[in-house]
Amino acid sequence: MRKLLLSTVAAAVVGLGGVSATPAHAARDLLIGGGSVTGVYYQFALHVCSLVNTHSDGAYNCVGRPALGSVFNINAVNRGLLDFGVAQSDRNWQAANGSGDWDGSPVEALRSVFSAYPETVLLVTRADTGIQSVGDLDGRPVNIGNPGSGQRGNAEDVLRLYGVEVEAEGLQQNEASRALIDNKIDAFFYTVGNPAAAIEEPANSTDIRIVPIDSQAIRDFTADKPYYVMTSIQPGAYKGVDEPVETYAVKATVVASTMLDDRVVYDVVKIVMENLDELRAAHAAFKHLDPAEMLQGLSAPFHPGAQRYYEEQGWM
Ligand code: GLU
Repeated sequence: MRKLLLSTVAAAVVGLGGVSATPAHAARDLLIGGGSVTGVYYQFALHVCSLVNTHSDGAYNCVGRPALGSVFNINAVNRGLLDFGVAQSDRNWQAANGSGDWDGSPVEALRSVFSAYPETVLLVTRADTGIQSVGDLDGRPVNIGNPGSGQRGNAEDVLRLYGVEVEAEGLQQNEASRALIDNKIDAFFYTVGNPAAAIEEPANSTDIRIVPIDSQAIRDFTADKPYYVMTSIQPGAYKGVDEPVETYAVKATVVASTMLDDRVVYDVVKIVMENLDELRAAHAAFKHLDPAEMLQGLSAPFHPGAQRYYEEQGWM
């Protein structure tokens, strides 16, 4: 008892000096930006933080927070408002190369940490709207995603490639799911890992249909871009989905900036990779996380802290 008391005092004194790495030293705060509360980014940010907090012996106090999505997260990481952000692989590419939302001004400080799970470009309608194809959206109220979201750019691409004009809404996804149920919109676009609460909510409270996005123009558009792949939503993924639905997919990626310490990125990557089983068990969308694949689908250069860990493992 006395010994314990003494060492606590000693640790506290050293801690005051600000030079100790003992648990008495203040934990380093880490902020990971996700997406809407009913999406999967937020779940990913929460679970990664929970791993970091559990396995870092008090070194980190990691908080996963809801945020506006890919474009917001990349910009917030670039401004130092977030330590890490989750972002779609197509936005990762655009930010690194100065196109799309970053037309002519690449985010030079953007760095990739790892990629995670596939996200599908989903177009969800109520069964009673009669909407069977993207062409049927013409003139209808459709949520294309809030500014800052990744899905907004996907929705714009799809509508352009199908030559369709809609009455576009810019709701956040949690509002969009409600708006579909309440007949305020006829459909929404959402680019998300599956299963997502944002789709389960309308699927379980009304009859929904997921509309295919697979025209020749879409196939041509995705064919020459390494960050897009054609895929299908499997029957049973959501209530009301009884046949495979063709669409395309991106990957969720985790980004940071050159400003973030190599040590921090190294620690986070190491903890995630060494406890991947826990992460796989945390959500159905994370079930197939695989280290080899987590190093793929990234366009911004690797963060040096991540690279160090991958080189140590002989993965690159
Ligand atoms: N892919 C969406 C975006 O970039 C977010 C999906 C999610 O929150 O899971 O904004």
